[in-house]
Amino acid sequence: MKKSKIIDGIKISNEIIDKIKNQVKKRIQKKAKIPYLAVIIIGDNPASKIYVQKKENKCKEVGFISKTFYFSKEVRETKVINLIKSLNKDNNIDAILVQLPLPNHINKNKIINSISIYKDVDGFNPYNTGSLCQGTPKLRPCTPKGIMSLLNAYNIKTHGLNAVVIGASNVVGRPMGLELLLAGCTTTITHRFTKNLKEYTKLADLLIVAVGKANFINSDWIKDKAIIIDVGINKLKNGKIVGDVNFKSMLLKASYITPVPGGVGPMTIASLLENTLEACKNLSKIKN
Ligand code: NAD
Repeated sequence: MKKSKIIDGIKISNEIIDKIKNQVKKRIQKKAKIPYLAVIIIGDNPASKIYVQKKENKCKEVGFISKTFYFSKEVRETKVINLIKSLNKDNNIDAILVQLPLPNHINKNKIINSISIYKDVDGFNPYNTGSLCQGTPKLRPCTPKGIMSLLNAYNIKTHGLNAVVIGASNVVGRPMGLELLLAGCTTTITHRFTKNLKEYTKLADLLIVAVGKANFINSDWIKDKAIIIDVGINKLKNGKIVGDVNFKSMLLKASYITPVPGGVGPMTIASLLENTLEACKNLSKIKN
């Protein structure tokens, strides 16, 4: 039997990053504005700090400007919103991202909704989520956008596929479902209350797993030649990072599969850089 094709997220994200670097070089030559990303981090969640550091490094690598604003975990909500309001008005800033999760006393939606729709590079603001829902995407949530870029890069034709998403979070599962609908899939979004989950996964030509449980899906849950996209990032007790899918068990059954690490993860950052450049270009048009 044919072995599954492994989708290389590092290679595809590097191709995107190279294109962005070239665009920044051209913008410097034309004396056009250099994209500027503002990141807000609240509290001292170690994973959040690592993600923010990675985003900063990648911004530097492509030639963007980035600045991170740190708040202690006790910060008042109004203080964060006031900062966002001033960043919204600041013509130097093209893009704003608030690193999730937030401390419990802060209303996540209030924070997200206060970000300018033009600078909302995570795409979580109701305007941007709503635009995707309407089928006219503007700034698109990064992880689902990155997954669509991966499918495109591998010439995977999505029209008419039975797509099943496991997980319905606002960050991954829901916007993923909307992206797949837009791409012509018959889309099912499943979640923790779904009964007989296996009956759905068995029907999937394309299965996207974003649950956050190590090795949640085995090969007997999928049909032959299914395309498997593993979004999960789970740290085992031995420190190893694994996805939500039992990767090894899939290798003779899936047609395509993303590894963890090295699959979806790098694409999320690449999409963030794309969104930041897009926001910068759009804002320049509005200002001119
Ligand atoms: P979340 O906890 O917000 O959502 C998990 C979803 O899984 C929920 O909708 C829940 O209903 C569903 N779920 C839980 N148990 C289930 C079950 N038994 N059967 C079916 N559905 C079930 O998590 P999230 O933010 O969507 O992230 C999911 C995973 O993806 C995590 O491991 C996270 O670290 C990872 N992630 C990766 C990237 C990346 O760039 N690769 C980006 C975001 C999230």
